[in-house]
Amino acid sequence: MSAAIKVEKLDKIYSLGGKGPDKHALKAIDLEIPRGSIFGLLGPNGAGKSTFINILAGLVNKTSGKANIWGFDIDENPRNARVSIGVVPQELYFDAFFTPFEMLELQAGLYGVPKSERRTLEILETVQLADEANSYTRTLSGGMKRRLLVAKAMVHSPPILVLDEPTAGVDIELRRQLWETIQDLNNRGVTIVLTTHYLEEAERLCDRIAIINHGHVVACDSTKNLLARIDEKEILFDLAHDLEEIPEALKSFHCHLSGKRRLAIQINKSSASVGEVLAAISSAGLEVHDLFTKDTDLEDIFLQLTRSD
Ligand code: ADP
Ligand code: MG
Repeated sequence: MSAAIKVEKLDKIYSLGGKGPDKHALKAIDLEIPRGSIFGLLGPNGAGKSTFINILAGLVNKTSGKANIWGFDIDENPRNARVSIGVVPQELYFDAFFTPFEMLELQAGLYGVPKSERRTLEILETVQLADEANSYTRTLSGGMKRRLLVAKAMVHSPPILVLDEPTAGVDIELRRQLWETIQDLNNRGVTIVLTTHYLEEAERLCDRIAIINHGHVVACDSTKNLLARIDEKEILFDLAHDLEEIPEALKSFHCHLSGKRRLAIQINKSSASVGEVLAAISSAGLEVHDLFTKDTDLEDIFLQLTRSD
């Protein structure tokens, strides 16, 4: 069986035609997204995530390379490629005077779904909006609106659902609801592709993650393997007494002094535990005033992944 989505040497240059320098947004991207997965495209703002999504959605023309959706090449078979995905865009846009029911019926009409094959109420149930089927869209909460956009992307029953930053600027409760909806759809067999700049989101939802930065894919792996590669953690100790040099008991760790009372120890979560570090600190006879850990953020991850060791 072919991949849900496969792109080869996908390249995008936005040409500003003299009004500014050209922008090379995607640089020869190779990616394969397996059927049935929840696939995360993770990267900071400006990395090229929306460009990638919009090329698949047929909203942006690629400069070169190939893209295949559910077995259909987007150049040779654009119609079939396009009906194979439903896209939830980054921005919320609504005609507030339609009800959710009307909005989905209209969308189904646009996609030429015959009346007998429409599943409008069933879709509204999937995103927990059945009770609001006949309310005006403008009266819906932010979370309901987001779920309505998911429903809209699903009216033609595409095997792939693409969500561009579904939870950007969304509060934690709403984020959880959306995660549930996404997981639920995936359990029903829908392949999910989502973009995010939250590591935590990709970590919780996705079984595979591609990390993209400045138009390059810097890593693509199962979530488990990827997290194992970025498992560095730094523990910082504020000491009660001055320390002139690293004690013998700590020499097996990667540590350094920054100032006489601040000791930083780097560990790989997979090869050493915080407990081992604490035991070594104690056997070195160090008195600790305070301790804190530094979490890996996206910037650290890019540095780790692009480092040439
Ligand atoms: P992301 O979604 O990861 O934040 P985008 O794909 O939106 O990134 O943007 C990638 C790069 O391409 C950015 O530098 C952005 O400014 C640029 N870009 C995006 N859309 C356009 C456009 N229509 N014209 C020119 N440059 C664009
Ligand atoms: Mg974007």
